[in-house]
Amino acid sequence: MTSPENLSIPTNLLPRDGRFGAGPSKVRAAQLDALLADAPHFLGTSHRQSTVKDKVGEVRDGLAALFNLPDGYEVLLGNGGSTAFWDIATFGLIEQHSQHLVFGEFSSKFATAVKAAPHLGDPEVISSEPGTHPQAIARDGIDLYALTHNETSTGVMMPILRPEGSTGLVCVDATSAAGGLIVDPTQFDVYYFAPQKSFASDGGLWIALCSPAAIARIEAIAASGRWTPEFFNLKTALDNSRLNQTYNTPALATIHLLASQISWFNENGGLSFSAGRSSRSAEVLYGWAEASDFATPFVQNSAERSHVIGTIDFTDEIDAALIAKILRANGVVDTEPYRKLGRNQLRIAMFPAIDSEDIAALCASINYIVGSL
Ligand SMILES: *Cc1c(COP(=O)(O)O)cnc(C)c1O
Repeated sequence: MTSPENLSIPTNLLPRDGRFGAGPSKVRAAQLDALLADAPHFLGTSHRQSTVKDKVGEVRDGLAALFNLPDGYEVLLGNGGSTAFWDIATFGLIEQHSQHLVFGEFSSKFATAVKAAPHLGDPEVISSEPGTHPQAIARDGIDLYALTHNETSTGVMMPILRPEGSTGLVCVDATSAAGGLIVDPTQFDVYYFAPQKSFASDGGLWIALCSPAAIARIEAIAASGRWTPEFFNLKTALDNSRLNQTYNTPALATIHLLASQISWFNENGGLSFSAGRSSRSAEVLYGWAEASDFATPFVQNSAERSHVIGTIDFTDEIDAALIAKILRANGVVDTEPYRKLGRNQLRIAMFPAIDSEDIAALCASINYIVGSL
């Protein structure tokens, strides 16, 4: 008898593209074609010359258009990904006291960085159980509210709104959300992310959409003389970004792939197009799970179920890890759950690059596996 791991899923059921990882995202073939076409005069050329600087300018202008940024908002970028941005914000955005909404692994990390910083006061942390999100509370003395648009470890999304009556900066980790979820830029001061999720590029860069109030904060902290390692200096990043450069050498392919994805979004209608693709996939995935007698959405409140990262629990009789293993053996990869959540679960990305038809095919493939076990 063949072991379940050797189960072969019929080709007509399989997704055309088997990449469902929560990051890096599936990259579209058209992005790679565009990179290959430009490669001979783009890759391997100076990031201080116009060929690359124009591409960075295209990224900055394209993001301003995509997010419909109001006058005075600026697009900053630098090396190190979103993880570096937590340290950058610790040095260059928080005056003294921050408030952090913690509802999973990613949202906890910024709070941890702030707690360890000797130049800042103790942050206020408001937590909630995995699978839910807490609410920010406006308080005197809080100069930065740290929100997370989409908690990638649990598949919970939350609306981005300024806490009523607050005066502090609203600083949003949008790493997995940006491009895949709708946001109103007047509700944030800093919206930061990395290109390897909804923008279907590679990792290593951070990007921050900054309001005039955020720019003023960056300038004020820089002028205060606070010691800051140059690599984490937001004023240095601001000055370089205005010249369409980064402080040190960026990955040129990452910038090119990112620019292609931004153009694809903008040419097809902007954020409503890209977020629409994710929300269509989410309808398919959660609709399937709700109708299933062995799978159910992990997030109870349907309004909080992420459109970019779906978390699906399985009944005790079904081993989700075995399903992920069989899928992987059939070329359908990275559906494993977030390790530390420790649930009998699959986690499925629905970034804009992923076709909703492939989400439907994934559901059909899971049905086939469960029916065969
Ligand atoms: C992926 C992710 C990060 C980490 O991004 P890196 O670019 O790998 O540092 C941070 N926050 C959220 C919400 C994420 O999804």
